[in-house]
Amino acid sequence: MTKTIALVAHDNRKNDLVEWVKHNRNQLQGNRFFATGTTGSLLTNILNNIHLLKSGPLGGDQQLGALIAEEKIDFMIFFWDPMSNQPHDVDVKALLRMTVLYNIPTACNRSSADFLITSPLFTDSEYHPAKKDYTYYLKRQV
Ligand code: PGA
Repeated sequence: MTKTIALVAHDNRKNDLVEWVKHNRNQLQGNRFFATGTTGSLLTNILNNIHLLKSGPLGGDQQLGALIAEEKIDFMIFFWDPMSNQPHDVDVKALLRMTVLYNIPTACNRSSADFLITSPLFTDSEYHPAKKDYTYYLKRQV
């Protein structure tokens, strides 16, 4: 079954992501992809079926967060840079928050990405990450 996979990498991690995608092209091909603009433009000649969003600092991370909230993303590979400040740091935090809130399998480094795509669950069409019911928290605040 076709999965929808989000791909994002900060500038200092883009080469790492391109290399990982090339290495795993056969495993990834056949799925559908959303990528932030600059990351995606580096991947269009490696992967088919890739939809480019805006560049991360120009709203691409927020677009991805919205797609997660609409439950349109199955997995996310996000190689964020642990050594540099980002102008859109709040957007990065918001995007990562969405992945936790919606229980989206997310890999932020190469070894996690390797585990994710080699898991039997990666191709299991019956597996749907459980969505936690947060209404308790919302009611408590009223
Ligand atoms: P980019 O955005 O792919 O447009 O560089 C990535 C990000 O910084 O979130």
